[in-house]
Amino acid sequence: MYIHEYQAKELLKKFDIEIPKGYLVNSKDDLEKAFSKLGCSLAVAKTQVYAGGRGKAGGVKLIKNLEEGLSFFDKFYNKRLVTNQTDEKGEIVNSIYLEEVSDIDRELYFSMTLNRDKKLISIIASNCGGMDIELVAEKTPDKIVKLDIDPLIGITDYMVRDIFFLYNLDKSLYPTLKNFIVSLYKIYVSYDAELIEINPLVVTKSSKLIALDAKMSFDDNALYRQKEILSMKNNDVKTDAELYAEKLGFSYVSLYGSIGCLVNGAGLAMATMDSINFSGHKPANFLDIGGGGNAEQISKALKIIFTSSNVKGVLINVFGGINHCDVIANGVVKAITDIDTTIPVVVRLKGADYEKGVDIIKKSKLNIHIVPTLDSGAELVTKLVNGELL
Ligand code: GDP
Ligand code: MN
Repeated sequence: MYIHEYQAKELLKKFDIEIPKGYLVNSKDDLEKAFSKLGCSLAVAKTQVYAGGRGKAGGVKLIKNLEEGLSFFDKFYNKRLVTNQTDEKGEIVNSIYLEEVSDIDRELYFSMTLNRDKKLISIIASNCGGMDIELVAEKTPDKIVKLDIDPLIGITDYMVRDIFFLYNLDKSLYPTLKNFIVSLYKIYVSYDAELIEINPLVVTKSSKLIALDAKMSFDDNALYRQKEILSMKNNDVKTDAELYAEKLGFSYVSLYGSIGCLVNGAGLAMATMDSINFSGHKPANFLDIGGGGNAEQISKALKIIFTSSNVKGVLINVFGGINHCDVIANGVVKAITDIDTTIPVVVRLKGADYEKGVDIIKKSKLNIHIVPTLDSGAELVTKLVNGELL
């Protein structure tokens, strides 16, 4: 789970890591107040989205007066920001963070991430931080330093010294750097983080070390014991359909193709999407009903798939295990009867009560195509969508 920059900065502040003064803005009124609280004519306005690359996309901007702030607000608030890390639709900007300006002398890079091969947390640092860090990593990898943290020892002085010399900092900043690294490690471990990235970490002209940007993500499987992190969860990047499916107890993911998919289980979802891709189309979404749900819930869930205007055909691929095929079939028949659609629907059922399921669908006399295998289903739905069988 990702948190926003302003939330990550609150955590940093709690651990005595210096951040610029800033205020969250959700209206023009907020913006005016934030401006006067900062008490200067210059400020930096930052769109709060989970994706990086905001700077290059115009989503981080130096604001020279209130008017510029207001026009930044109009341009981005409640709009979608497209960066090199989002898809073409971009990410919705639900809030803007207004910060005091930092007088940057140098931009550094610091991150901690899980090294799955070595089963420990690694530090990645570079004295060439900023918006081109990916380019630095690609063109001059020797400028990126990696240090592994022994989980039994934690952060040692020699590590702090290594980074201190790498950053070429003034001696007076040694204790600040040490607190920065030790505190980030504490945050990482105690909050079950997956990634903490400070880019840029800046040295100001008045020789201060400040975290100018902060990206943090946490292990979803540990959220049950991380109430503080969970309380920062933001549902605003999910679509209404995704939230509704979550309420029903299913997971629904919107994608960009034209075939809607109803499946049970993540593995089957992957296989189904692979088959659709292979047959020449792309999935518009997938709805995973897992191992639960009665016919009523399944019918409600299936209707979600049809709410997307991208859907030109639907492939239902279910292995009857915990869910028996007759329950699935009843749900499908109910949904298709209710919505009275002309969109072609192809069903492949296997497993428990398979015959009963097929029978229910046949008896419904609805225009639902039953196929014996996944591949034939993907092929058929593709042909139907392409109009090849009309
Ligand atoms: P990102 O592009 O999404 O990673 O957004 P960042 O928060 O890293 O901001 C992008 C860039 O904006 C930084 O690398 C800085 O160069 C610049 N920037 C952000 N805040 C300030 C500031 O207070 N002063 C100055 N001079 N530049 C800033
Ligand atoms: Mn950044």
